[in-house]
Amino acid sequence: MRAVPFFEHGPASVLQYKEDFPDPVRARNSVIIDVKYCGVNHLDIWARQGIAGRNIRLPHICGCDIVGTVSRKSHGLRAGDRVVVYPGFSCGRCAHCRAGSQNLCSQFAIIGGMSDHDGGYAEQAIVPAQNIVRIPGSIKDEVAATLAVSYLVAWNMLKTNGAAKGKTVLVYGASSGVGMATIQIAKALGATVITTVSSGEKRVFAEKVGADHIVDRSENIAERAREITSGTGVDIVIDHVGAATWQASITSLKQGGRMAVCGMTSGNDATVPVRSFYTKQIAMTGALLGTKRQLQGLIRFVAKKKIRPVIDSVLPLKEASLAHERMEAGKHMGKMLLKCS
Ligand SMILES: [Zn+2]
Repeated sequence: MRAVPFFEHGPASVLQYKEDFPDPVRARNSVIIDVKYCGVNHLDIWARQGIAGRNIRLPHICGCDIVGTVSRKSHGLRAGDRVVVYPGFSCGRCAHCRAGSQNLCSQFAIIGGMSDHDGGYAEQAIVPAQNIVRIPGSIKDEVAATLAVSYLVAWNMLKTNGAAKGKTVLVYGASSGVGMATIQIAKALGATVITTVSSGEKRVFAEKVGADHIVDRSENIAERAREITSGTGVDIVIDHVGAATWQASITSLKQGGRMAVCGMTSGNDATVPVRSFYTKQIAMTGALLGTKRQLQGLIRFVAKKKIRPVIDSVLPLKEASLAHERMEAGKHMGKMLLKCS
C-alpha cells in the first residue's frame, strides 16, 4: 500500500512516502479501514520527533485522526461503512475500560501517536474493533477527520469544566486545532469566548469561527481578560500552550475559576504563581484526549449544532512532510488533512 512511515525520529524530512509499504495483516478483534482522510495534529509531530527515553517500534506510521470505510465485513460492520476511529488504545478489560474511561487505562496509548500502534498516514489502517465509531450521514468525511483529536479534547475540557451560557472561556491560539475547536464548541454551548491571535490574518480567522473577544498575543493577556470581564476574570481557561501561558492563565481566572490543560506546545517547564492559584481556589484538570463515549457525544453535538470546522488545506498523502513543516511554522489556520485514497 501507499504509506508515509518514518524509520527514525527527526525533522519532517524523516517522513518517507512509500508506494509499496506492506499492507496491514488481519488480526483478531481488529478491523481494517480503507483510509479516506487523516487529520494532521501536533501529536503526529511529537511522535515523529520522539520523546527522550521512550522507544516505539519503528518504522512507525503516524496520524491519529482517521476517517474511512470498513474494508471487509466483520464485527457487525459491513464493507463500505463510513467510520471514524476513536484513537485511544486501551486494554478493554480493566475497571476504567469497563466504566468507559479508556483514557485512564494503564495501557492507554494513542493510535498513530507516540505508541506502537500505526496510524492513518496510509491507504489502510488496522485498528481494534472496539475503537470504531460510525459517522452519521449528515457529517462529511472531511469534517469527521477533524473530530477525534483536537475537537474531542476540547469537548472533554469544556464539558468537564462546565462551559455553558453565562460562562466566559479563554483559549489561546484561535487558528490552532484546539483553539478553533474550543471556540466553536464553547460558542455552541452558549459561552462567551476570549481568544488570542498572532497576526491580523489570524484575527479575521478568529472572527470567522465566532470568538467574541480577540486579544493580540503581544498584549498583556491577563490584563485584557480582566478588562473584558469587568475586573472579575474568566471562568475557564483552556491551556494547550504550556510554559509560555500558565502564568497568564492563572492570573486571568476569577475566584473559583477552572483551568484545563491538554498540551505544552511551548514547553514543559511552567512558572506558577502559587499564591494566586490557591487564594483564588482554582481547580486544574489535565485532559488526555477523551473517551469513546465523549467522541460519540461530540459527533451528535456537531451534527445537531451544524458545527463546521475550517479546513486549512487538504494535501495528498505524499506531501505529509510539507504538512508537518506548515504546522511547525505555525502557518496553518484551521485543520490540515491528508487525502489518503
Ligand atoms: Zn483498561
